[in-house]
Amino acid sequence: MKLRLPLLAAMAAVCASAQYKSVNPTVKKIVDQVSEERVTAIMKKLESFDTRNVFSDDDNPTKGVGAARRWIFQQFQSYSPRLQVRFDSYKVKKKGRIIRDVELHNIVAVLPGTTNPERQFIISGHYDTLATLRPLTGTPDGGSGQPSPDSQFSLENLSPIAPGVSDDGSGTAAVMELAHVMSQYEFEKTIVFIAFTAEEEGLIGSSLYARKARGENQIIDGVLNNDIIGTEVSGNGRIDNSSLWVFSEDPDDSPSRELARYVKEVSERYYPSFKIDLVFRADRLGRGGDHTPFNQEGYCAVRLTTPNETYANQHTPTDTFANASPSYTTRAIRANAAALASLALAPKAPVTNEPIKTGPRKGQPTTMLGRGKSRYDAALRWTNENPEPDLLGYVVVMRKSTSPDWEREIFVGNVNQYTLKDVSIDDVVFGVKAVDKDGNESLVTPYVPGPRAKAEIETY
Ligand SMILES: [Zn+2]
Repeated sequence: MKLRLPLLAAMAAVCASAQYKSVNPTVKKIVDQVSEERVTAIMKKLESFDTRNVFSDDDNPTKGVGAARRWIFQQFQSYSPRLQVRFDSYKVKKKGRIIRDVELHNIVAVLPGTTNPERQFIISGHYDTLATLRPLTGTPDGGSGQPSPDSQFSLENLSPIAPGVSDDGSGTAAVMELAHVMSQYEFEKTIVFIAFTAEEEGLIGSSLYARKARGENQIIDGVLNNDIIGTEVSGNGRIDNSSLWVFSEDPDDSPSRELARYVKEVSERYYPSFKIDLVFRADRLGRGGDHTPFNQEGYCAVRLTTPNETYANQHTPTDTFANASPSYTTRAIRANAAALASLALAPKAPVTNEPIKTGPRKGQPTTMLGRGKSRYDAALRWTNENPEPDLLGYVVVMRKSTSPDWEREIFVGNVNQYTLKDVSIDDVVFGVKAVDKDGNESLVTPYVPGPRAKAEIETY
């Protein structure tokens, strides 16, 4: 009889941890429910407004940016009464590529979380478009056709036809389709679905949003920005409908890089036919996206985009549905769905640094990683305030400092420290993540040592 209780406890632990690395049926269902038929309908409808340029007609009931904005708003409202839909509006003065004073409206749909509603994940795309009658002038941008920061717009040069189906009707379709599917479920954390505006005028809508979020100290745990996920054919004939690029800013252990690694691991688990290619850069060369203002405000944000674009269609009247691939867009949305649903269901990530208690650097953060009593071990500690009730435990992850992704994972149970015997902390990078009883994993928090203080030396 004495053996019985520990044995039961051990069995329970085995059963619970059997969920780790398995597939969560809810996430799987969400991935499978993404509908190519609906994605196609959204992309066609967005094309039907002729243009969604921010300087186009705001009042026409069927054409222009105003009609498009009102339609997206109504669609969000129709998906679920649990979605809180609003315009995030600004009056922006004429300056640079804002060629006249203009009212701008991001469209925001919030699905409030259950246990951690204060923590948010954002999925975004931009619904505004741009097409010019003559090529924009300015500094070279690598030949992609993207307006460089110093290229100026003029009202006379704007084409009345700017369908923007790939750029970025496709990303808008991702936001809308996921709002539709995911609003039928509950998540621990809040998910915010955003169609940004005035991306084409210099990331204006997202910059205003990110600045406000920072000012209000909002907790945004990650942003998945989808911009140009509409094509699978490059202008040079290269074709691939089964991979997606994820761009993340340096340094190598930045929160954004961890989000990118998470997208790869989780998307490929739930949707293995589709490959995530990580690009260790903030964005494509010389080109911008709505994740950048979040990075600039210190938030974790990545860009998801197709590796195959036809530059001849970008920012022209030929960025049409006929030149897009709704089946590719649907696949990219499924990849997003897996990562976003897992993130919003998962426990929050543990904390791996703490304030220094004494000495001249008192109060500054230091990483909770040491060499242990032996001085030859890796001794890891972490904290997690108010752990979720369904927390199963923690996973220590490791990789060589030169390796791009985590190489080894060790489930260490519901503890707040773990020592790896005879493991050097000098040539290995460590991280820790939380996992719940359904197998949902948090983002990894890496152990990042702070910079060494500059030597202060007096000479005589
Ligand atoms: Zn774009």
